[in-house]
Amino acid sequence: MKRITLLGSTGSIGTQTLDIVAEYPEKFRVVGMTAGGNIELFAQQIRKFQPEIVAIANETKLAELKEAIADLAVKPIILAGAEGVETVAAYGDSEAVVTGIVGCAGLLPTIAAIKAGKNIALANKETLIAGGEVVVPLVKKHGVKLLPADSEHSAIFQCLQGVPEGGLRRIILTASGGAFRDRPTKELASVTVADALKHPNWAMGKKITIDSATLMNKGLEVIEAHYLFGVDYDKIEIVIHPQSIIHSLIELEDTSVLAQLGLPDMRLPLLYSLSYPDRIPTQWERLDLVKCGTLTFRAPDHQKYPCMDLAYAAGRAGGSMPAVLNAANEQVVELFLQERVRYVQIADLIKHVCDRHNLISKPELEDILEADKWARNAVIEQVMATI
Ligand code: NDP
Repeated sequence: MKRITLLGSTGSIGTQTLDIVAEYPEKFRVVGMTAGGNIELFAQQIRKFQPEIVAIANETKLAELKEAIADLAVKPIILAGAEGVETVAAYGDSEAVVTGIVGCAGLLPTIAAIKAGKNIALANKETLIAGGEVVVPLVKKHGVKLLPADSEHSAIFQCLQGVPEGGLRRIILTASGGAFRDRPTKELASVTVADALKHPNWAMGKKITIDSATLMNKGLEVIEAHYLFGVDYDKIEIVIHPQSIIHSLIELEDTSVLAQLGLPDMRLPLLYSLSYPDRIPTQWERLDLVKCGTLTFRAPDHQKYPCMDLAYAAGRAGGSMPAVLNAANEQVVELFLQERVRYVQIADLIKHVCDRHNLISKPELEDILEADKWARNAVIEQVMATI
């Protein structure tokens, strides 16, 4: 029985992780859970999974949460706010923490979990984009494992099993191409939020769905791969693969190419991040190659997806730049979802903020948090200036 903690239980990653726990109650037990503000779902989850400790990030909802579970005979410890989330992340004897929080809000809880000696099942990529310079050394210092739950990085990690040191030549990240992969670039000026939220292959949270449309998600994944696998940016490539069956590939020094395939279902990378190095038998739908038919690939269009190049540039600049790119992107995507900026402004705003940033080449955690705050403000200032 593995004891786990789940950050962001009410989201897409969170609910799919709980589906796994519900399916394998003899294998996993949820010790701690956190949510942002969705009290109705969080209360249902607390009733069903009976964790020992919970936290709601939105402090104003604490009373509502307490009321929603007031009738429980055995209540969990109930905390609130960002500090409450960090306490849950570090709590007790749970062995692994699944990071399903969206955005850089996941950074401090992830650090708290690492410092408490817990392995991390990493879905929350923004943590590694913004804080890679600090998180990677901490992971080494505390001797914990950083296990990818993102499907592409799980694929790479699975392919890497048994590859000797020095054997990896390059990583090929596959991308579905997002909501606009079949739209001509000139039509993007008029697309709406609803259009951008129509992902062809995956059902995910809103932020990552927009990032998939702009391909910023793939750019962030390039930086994530750099930190997870210690691979140089020149050795990480992106290829558009509309069917999302091959989740990513690696090429070895002898030119052998290894790929991991599967239906687009996040439960598999999540399960492997929790069961590693073991494989848990499942009865989930199996891949039928004949039914899949044709698998196709094409080079990404740099004019159509400028965010991809911005991410490579920020990754190569290193230091505090990925944190700025990430924060600017989070802020711009939020404004786009609120219909306060247009789709075609997204990349320009992020570039503007990255260009203005004074790079800190070896940032401490405080520098990263400061750069994150600065970048969000810089986006808002720029949007206000252009109204
Ligand atoms: P969702 O938006 O579906 O869920 C986000 C979760 O984070 C919710 O539980 C939300 O709570 C909580 N949350 C939001 N803001 C805060 C905050 N400030 N503090 C604490 N908790 C907060 O996102 P996804 O599940 O889609 O994505 C989660 C992470 O996983 C992202 O980093 C994403 O990039 C990554 N990922 C997701 C994939 C997917 O298939 N969804 C695939 C690969 C990676 P509430 O709803 O209660 O407000």
